[in-house]
Amino acid sequence: MSILRQRLTVSGQVQGVGFRPFVFRLAAAHALSGLVRNTPQGVAVEVQGTWEALEAFVLDLREKLPPLARIVTLTAEDLPPVPDETGFSIAESAPGRGHNVLISPDAATCPDCLAEMNDPADRRFEYPFTNCTNCGPRWTITRAIPYDRPVTSMACFPMCPECEREYHDPADRRFHAQPNACPVCGPKVWLTDRDGAPLAEGPEALGLLARELAAGKIAAIKGLGGFHLSCDAADARATAELRRRKQRPAKPLAVMVPDLDAARRLALVSPAEEGILAGVERPIVLLAKAPGAALSPDVAPDTDFVGLMLPYTPLHHVLLRRCAEAFGPDRATALVMTSGNRSSEPICLGNREALRRLGHIADVFLLHNRDILVRTDDSVLRVHPDTGLPLFLRRARGFTPAPVFLAQDGPTALGLGPELKCSLCLTKGPAAFVSQHIGDMENLETMDFHREVLAHLEDVLQVRPEIVVHDLHPDYMTTPLAAELAAQRGLPRTALQHHFAHIHAALAENRHQEPALGLALDGTGYGLDGTIWGGECLFVDPLELDHQRLAHFTPFRLPGGEAAVREPWRIAQSLLWDLGLREPEAWWPWRRDRAQASDFLPQVLERGLNSPVTTSCGRLFDGVSALLGLCPVISYEGQAAILLEKAQDMAETRAYPCPLRTGGDPAVLDTLALFRHALDDLRQGAPAGVIARRFHLGLVQGLADLAAAFGHVLGIAHVALSGGVMQNLTLARELPQALAGRGLVPLVHTQVPPNDGCISLGQAVYGQRLLELGKI
Ligand code: ZN
Ligand code: ZN
Ligand code: FE
Repeated sequence: MSILRQRLTVSGQVQGVGFRPFVFRLAAAHALSGLVRNTPQGVAVEVQGTWEALEAFVLDLREKLPPLARIVTLTAEDLPPVPDETGFSIAESAPGRGHNVLISPDAATCPDCLAEMNDPADRRFEYPFTNCTNCGPRWTITRAIPYDRPVTSMACFPMCPECEREYHDPADRRFHAQPNACPVCGPKVWLTDRDGAPLAEGPEALGLLARELAAGKIAAIKGLGGFHLSCDAADARATAELRRRKQRPAKPLAVMVPDLDAARRLALVSPAEEGILAGVERPIVLLAKAPGAALSPDVAPDTDFVGLMLPYTPLHHVLLRRCAEAFGPDRATALVMTSGNRSSEPICLGNREALRRLGHIADVFLLHNRDILVRTDDSVLRVHPDTGLPLFLRRARGFTPAPVFLAQDGPTALGLGPELKCSLCLTKGPAAFVSQHIGDMENLETMDFHREVLAHLEDVLQVRPEIVVHDLHPDYMTTPLAAELAAQRGLPRTALQHHFAHIHAALAENRHQEPALGLALDGTGYGLDGTIWGGECLFVDPLELDHQRLAHFTPFRLPGGEAAVREPWRIAQSLLWDLGLREPEAWWPWRRDRAQASDFLPQVLERGLNSPVTTSCGRLFDGVSALLGLCPVISYEGQAAILLEKAQDMAETRAYPCPLRTGGDPAVLDTLALFRHALDDLRQGAPAGVIARRFHLGLVQGLADLAAAFGHVLGIAHVALSGGVMQNLTLARELPQALAGRGLVPLVHTQVPPNDGCISLGQAVYGQRLLELGKI
């Protein structure tokens, strides 16, 4: 029987995830000799044995991967056999420059670790920092690569002899688990009051915290990527108080429950939703509330949905167990877990910082001494009911820094993101690394966070950008930031219009390289003509970088500018003005509370004072919502549209007409017709639910007809869908169906959010391509 030898080179997420012990066990199972070692490119495996055994080994290597491992490339080359080789070994890491290893995102506690934590005889019984190569913190504790303990925030915890033994034993689940720790040598928790005075430490701290929560107190809890603010989710008084102190009147609050059974008591959970809820990423999943769910009405007042998540750290598991004891058998164990920040500021990171910034919100603080190196919020998504795929609202913990794999290789480009829901993106070869959600770039704290994230991502990826791409908006804080970076580093920079960036992002994650149509259904973005765009039909050639604005929504004015965004009634009145209703009428829903401001608006509109022109889709939703009296004023972004979507009477089947006017260039989708018909119906006494439904149906059909018309003329079948309005589940379901029904192929976001969280991806791939073409 002839003996062969092969060298396999594996790249991807293959370090710090138990890959070498896995290879070691696999080689033994197939009676192969050889060795495995970490290299700058990933992992190199040399295996020797029969052809059949080698074949079976490679098959298993691909198919039986450890939970956190991901193979991106696997290449094989033949080597001369080594005579008399016996056994298989794990060799020293090969030194060298360059790096192609992916740091794993943070992963939820694995079943093996959980079993140890539940076993009173185990040395890690209820230890809140238990982890192994299959689970635990990664991204949030890693400073740089190569990923070794000294570059993590575990550097200051020398391992005890028992942990040390596990760490060096190739057969152990904790072989080279960098965050390995136990109660003897690892991080510790303690509880303090709002002044930082200690109340309890160790296991007693979690017991006392649970009793405080049971008594209606509000706690700040240090977690994986930052602090949470927490209280009993069934306690109406505590949730109202949390809202008051956090100055967050209505935006939904996320809730953590112990397990899937508990989730099913609060929400209707489909099998696809269960899979994502319980997956290693553990995002917050928006689920339909169960009838009679034991939740304070304050948790999610505007919607039929509730954001649930399962515990993702050992600390959460122990805390929820203590809460179950403290709350007693008659009360559900469900904790509000909302980001520990003041509205619009980044999530808190350090112990002292939390005491300073959250002292006026929380009564008690659960602290620990493992540092968080980079802020990372919880991810938020819904599961698309038809496809079972994620629809991201916020992409962060559990997903960052897993890359979006592109169709093409290229130089490293940096996309800085827009103003709101900002992320940034660095490309490295054919992979695009979209950062965690950074937030709204409206204050210095968020600007600093943006800088932190860029520095961290550059360190972990070991790349430096060759071009900087920013939004076209002159007043976004990312624009001077781009100028500053470009000047500091001597790099070219360029601006990309917001909605072209949206469409580039959608095309990139679908690896679509042909010319395509794009529907950008968005809030606002600075347009090429200086007006505010947001309801756009675009042509994009992602390789040649040809861009064209084919059509847009009927333009209207935003009286008061930003004030109109906060007060949708102004938009309704502006649209009524466009229909010729210039004098305020008594029946307008906002006349009761805002007669004075409303009386003043005709003068503003007449003179065009501070009334920017927009084609925004999101603002059109706001206007209709206000017309129906659903939401004259918003307290969080998207609120008016959320209420309009919720109001729909799904038994209704008629759609308002929304015709395409092709006279000019660009063409105009007559979205004012939708508003006019809503007004007519309202005057005839039609219920809000019927009007809301007819509006949604009309918009979907109008958009699909528009895409079909241009698709026919240009010979294009693919239509990329992006923009914040695509978070609307009605559009996310019905628009792709309507496009498919007209023979078109919808391309949607499943890896990054359709909202402005995707802009940095579009900017980065555009910059990468621009360098490739030598156009800059
Ligand atoms: Zn584990
Ligand atoms: Zn130890
Ligand atoms: Fe946008």
